[in-house]
Amino acid sequence: MTAHMPAPMTYVSTRGRAPVLDFEATMLTGLARDGGLYVPATVPVMSAAEIAALAGLPYEDIAFRVIRPFIGDAFDDATLRESITRAYAGFEHPARAPLKQLGANHFLLELFHGPTLAFKDFAMQLIGQLFQAALARSGQRVTIVGATSGDTGSAAIEAFAGLDAVDVFILYPHGRVSEVQRRQMTTPTAANVHALAVDGDFDTCQALVKDMFNDHAFRDEVSLAGVNSINWARVLAQVVYYFAAATALGAPHRAVAFTVPTGNFGDIFAGHIARAMGLPVDRLVIATNHNDILHRAMQSGRYDTDTVRPSISPSMDIQVSSNFERALFDAYGRDGAAVAQLMDELRAAKGFAISQGALEFLRERYASGRASEDETAATIARTHRATGELLCPHSAVGVHVAEAMPTDAPMVTLATAHPAKFPDAVEAATGLRPALPARMADLFDRPERVTRLPDDLAPLQALIRERRRA
Ligand SMILES: *Cc1c(COP(=O)(O)O)cnc(C)c1O
Repeated sequence: MTAHMPAPMTYVSTRGRAPVLDFEATMLTGLARDGGLYVPATVPVMSAAEIAALAGLPYEDIAFRVIRPFIGDAFDDATLRESITRAYAGFEHPARAPLKQLGANHFLLELFHGPTLAFKDFAMQLIGQLFQAALARSGQRVTIVGATSGDTGSAAIEAFAGLDAVDVFILYPHGRVSEVQRRQMTTPTAANVHALAVDGDFDTCQALVKDMFNDHAFRDEVSLAGVNSINWARVLAQVVYYFAAATALGAPHRAVAFTVPTGNFGDIFAGHIARAMGLPVDRLVIATNHNDILHRAMQSGRYDTDTVRPSISPSMDIQVSSNFERALFDAYGRDGAAVAQLMDELRAAKGFAISQGALEFLRERYASGRASEDETAATIARTHRATGELLCPHSAVGVHVAEAMPTDAPMVTLATAHPAKFPDAVEAATGLRPALPARMADLFDRPERVTRLPDDLAPLQALIRERRRA
């Protein structure tokens, strides 16, 4: 009998001009060298029986079965299993991603029981473990640089703090993250993590990171690695909770709908991958705050950037939604040259028209809605009165949009952060100030460590050269 070998698994760039990579190289690279994003050459499919068998399994077991086919031979089963176990050991809820019922057919998927209280922990904790396994094996070192609208940064700092082979630099927009978010980034004491406050908004930070990746000499000099939601491994880790929630609610025997508070389009794209793997998803709903470029694009067919307006859901204050490029790649029939042209247009003219065919493709797969600031606050208050559940403002954007969506399928809204991460908005809406979990009750007493930087590549690169441990 021949041994059963895992199928080769390769990843291609959305702009079609970067090397084809395996899972490990895709994870360590982040952004493709042609400026594009890596996606699987083909998405592995699970049979209805395989999906049905997930129902009721521990979260870690579901994670192993969903992630395994994407890894190819980059990690063996034991390493993957161990990485998954370690990644979720620090979560406070035994279900990891528990479901709560909000209404007759409306459920909340709580993704905020990890170490930094936002869904970003699901992916970041796992890729921290996988980076460590890969780098220990090769003896390589990397410099991780990431931009954050608040939650990615703390999740990355928490996941990589103290790791020998990694230095971490996180750029956040000065004055535009909540105090809890800022303190989660500035108070860890490990010497290999660095919080950088940049003068600008999230898009400024993201553009600086992209420029660094596109400076190939610098990229190679410091072995740059990216852990923003453009990193494929992040998207992959997030696919798991769509399977966990849907099978708990009756999939594959019935379809389930999801509403996703959306900024950079990483989380909702994970839902799209779950569907491509065979999970019956009735609809995937993009929920935006008043920074509504994605909702406008779905309505009008024009993707036009505007200036970012601060909101009470700051982790979604984004105008350039990086992972949308992955959706466009599929919508344009996986034509990398067409996607590259759109992205050139975006850079030059701050917007582009989506072709009629691509728009129809997207509208068949995604619905969308937006919540104004008042609607978000009213949803926090109303949900609390009706169910006792305190929503963070991002989750409230989702609940507002979900409640307006007609569907017969069970609707699951992703609760992307803990209310105590955004206590001012929650208190303003309900009069109640949500308390931090006991394990971080002293957050406001810990000393902060942060460097302020202008919107300028040169001083940033100089700082990274100086601080990274060669
Ligand atoms: C990052 C984040 C979002 C947006 O997720 P994307 O994957 O960027 O679309 C929504 N809510 C919270 C709390 C977040 O941290």
